[in-house]
Amino acid sequence: MPARPAEGLWPSAATTVVGVIGDPVGHSLSPLIHNTAFGALQLDWVSVGFAVPAGAAAGAVAGMRALKLGGLSVTMPHKRAVADVVDACTPVAATLGAVNCLRWEGDRLVGDNTDGEGFVSGLGRGAGIDPEGLHCMVVGAGGAARAVILALAQAGAAEVVVVNRTVERAAAAAALAGERGRVGVAEDAAQADLVVEATPAGMEGSTAVPLVAGAALGRGQVAADLVYHPAVTPWLAAARDNGATAVGGLGMLVHQAAAQLRAWTGVEPPVETMWEAARRAVDGGGNGTA
Ligand code: NAP
Repeated sequence: MPARPAEGLWPSAATTVVGVIGDPVGHSLSPLIHNTAFGALQLDWVSVGFAVPAGAAAGAVAGMRALKLGGLSVTMPHKRAVADVVDACTPVAATLGAVNCLRWEGDRLVGDNTDGEGFVSGLGRGAGIDPEGLHCMVVGAGGAARAVILALAQAGAAEVVVVNRTVERAAAAAALAGERGRVGVAEDAAQADLVVEATPAGMEGSTAVPLVAGAALGRGQVAADLVYHPAVTPWLAAARDNGATAVGGLGMLVHQAAAQLRAWTGVEPPVETMWEAARRAVDGGGNGTA
């Protein structure tokens, strides 16, 4: 892996460019997190944001091939569309029908999805929790929830109960966990070891009301919110105040980005340094997205 040239000579024509495609993309924390890691590792790589409007993902991927970009992060609204224009998908991306990371295998462009892996790694780092054998509940059935449900099942969860406003979507999401997945109701939270809030309910400006109250959780339970801005949502605070172990969404964000960097470069990412950069950005009021 070529080392970064001296200050003032970087970036250069030899620098490997990666980036994130999305719309909006201006608030994405991916370039910050990846550039922090590239700097810490002194790699001759740089990440930038590409604003790609809905419907234009295929053109963006064609551009990636033509420009030989080193990799791309993929965020809303392109995660599904990109899955249709790669040469191959990893089993996780194919099962989810959604891609959050494009990487090269030789001259083949492969779509991967590191969101679920990021969630499980963040849970371990944030609370020392391994989902194996746990009774889990996921509230929500959108793209993020689906990635978490599949990852929990693959990590050996005993059960994954899905609660969602739209019941048909809950059933499709629960099926990702196979025989260990089922559609549930809010009251099932009392039996869960881990409850994941995977809707936008806690985001600043959201008027959504959590389907499972944070205060319904307590001692001996883990409450994980995928929202990371604010770092502690009202739902998470209520669960924590009632004795539950609280895990915010920043861990998932950082660890899915770390998995992407590992896939692109083959180098072990400096996760703690990436954490610090992300935390500073969120604490500093940045309204970041993946
Ligand atoms: P999405 O695909 O649009 O899904 C949204 C989910 O929230 C659906 O289950 C939807 O229910 C539910 N929902 C939306 N508004 C609701 C309301 N008013 N009342 C009840 N349920 C409501 O979104 P997503 O991509 O999965 O993202 C979900 C959250 O995860 C967002 O806050 C996002 O920021 C966060 N996220 C975090 C990370 C991270 O790295 N930490 C990564 C990805 C996403 P219906 O099915 O009934 O519409």
